[in-house]
Amino acid sequence: MERRASLYTVGCRLNQAETAIFSDRLKQSDFQLVPFGQPTDLFVLNTCSVTHGAEAECRRAIRRTLQHSPDAFIAVTGCYAQTGTHALSSIPGVDLIVGSQHKMNVLDFIPSLKKRSASEVVRGNPSRDDFVIDGVGDFTSTRATLKVQDGCDFMCAFCNIPFARGRERSRKLDDLLREASALVDRGHKEIVLSGVNIGQYDADEKSLLDVIQSVEAIPGIARIRISSIEPTTISDGLLKHMAQSEIVCRYLHIPLQSGSDVILDRMHRRYGVEEYRLFVEMAARMIPDLCLGTDVMVGFPGEGDDEFEQTVSVLSQLPFSYFHVFSYSERVGTAAEKYENKVSAQLIQRRSRLLRELSSVKRLTHYQGYAGKTVSVIFEQQDADGYWRGLTDTYVRVCARSDDDLHRQVRLVEIVGVAGDRALGELVAPREASRRELVMVS
Ligand code: SF4
Repeated sequence: MERRASLYTVGCRLNQAETAIFSDRLKQSDFQLVPFGQPTDLFVLNTCSVTHGAEAECRRAIRRTLQHSPDAFIAVTGCYAQTGTHALSSIPGVDLIVGSQHKMNVLDFIPSLKKRSASEVVRGNPSRDDFVIDGVGDFTSTRATLKVQDGCDFMCAFCNIPFARGRERSRKLDDLLREASALVDRGHKEIVLSGVNIGQYDADEKSLLDVIQSVEAIPGIARIRISSIEPTTISDGLLKHMAQSEIVCRYLHIPLQSGSDVILDRMHRRYGVEEYRLFVEMAARMIPDLCLGTDVMVGFPGEGDDEFEQTVSVLSQLPFSYFHVFSYSERVGTAAEKYENKVSAQLIQRRSRLLRELSSVKRLTHYQGYAGKTVSVIFEQQDADGYWRGLTDTYVRVCARSDDDLHRQVRLVEIVGVAGDRALGELVAPREASRRELVMVS
């Protein structure tokens, strides 16, 4: 009988890219992949330890699987497997815990699905060496995420990623190009380059810009998107290239975290507010129609009303199209764990709500700016109501009605309005659009 396997990912885009590799390998090993929540023989959980909430979600996923599949082999890997080994091994029914160093080989530690009497733990300090990854990510989406870098040396005061994933290291260029080509051959139109601190890419004296230019040369690729990137790691060369490239998305997600210099300093961030402001204003000038996103953290110890007001002011003034709001979560072993002046949970909730509302207004304004323009959209899937959903390179979520199969097609769309959290569009021409066609029609 075919063996069933189920996968679950908590956390970031990088974790999703890694799980996609596990998925591909399981399929090659003749496992039948079943959705999370259905009875299974093997459960592989890729964990996150960035907040208390993420860790709780990991524990819930294990318990839920054991409820419907008490005999399933439970394998746990990822950041929480590295930092919370003891907590995970004390959950009855967990068979295998694999930390960050051997994460990509987690399946090699499962010679049989026979349950174990106690958790086997495979854990060591993550290496600093550049790396390769066997296989090709298995994605159902139009976009595919490609891991090009891992780890971080920056040691921000709130963050446990340097402990969970280790120090900076980069994926060998030849190896990432091999996977990128295979992803394009499988029909993925857009590749998202991802890493923990991607701007620090440095393998064989190649930079992130070298990676982008090499991936760009793959025949058939329509778009390359850079995932979140630290502000101090973006070179002028990268901005210039983004401004003139037909393939690199005009999109930068640059974490700000706080609009207060006092808080940024306590966070051990490597820039001040003015430096950040000058940088993003220059980027917006250099790259017309740039979509600028950011992360902001609410409730870092010492964030008083003044510091929060400064954050609101910076977020309002700068040309952001949206931002992601995170609540501060105390992490063991970080510098901020010892900081005083903690912010109450109620205040964090209130401030987060306010910032999320501000982000919604920013997004709406960003979308409304496209009214009357014709944009190039890569379509992903059709909703039950007949509308096709897709994305522009500038991160506008577009829906358009069509009886045609638009899956993975690049089409020209005129934006006619905004409906809920999407821009409403009409197909302009029954042809595929060029890679970054954008025409003003009014
Ligand atoms: S740059 Fe700072 S927040 Fe980002 S992964 Fe590194 S330590 Fe964490």
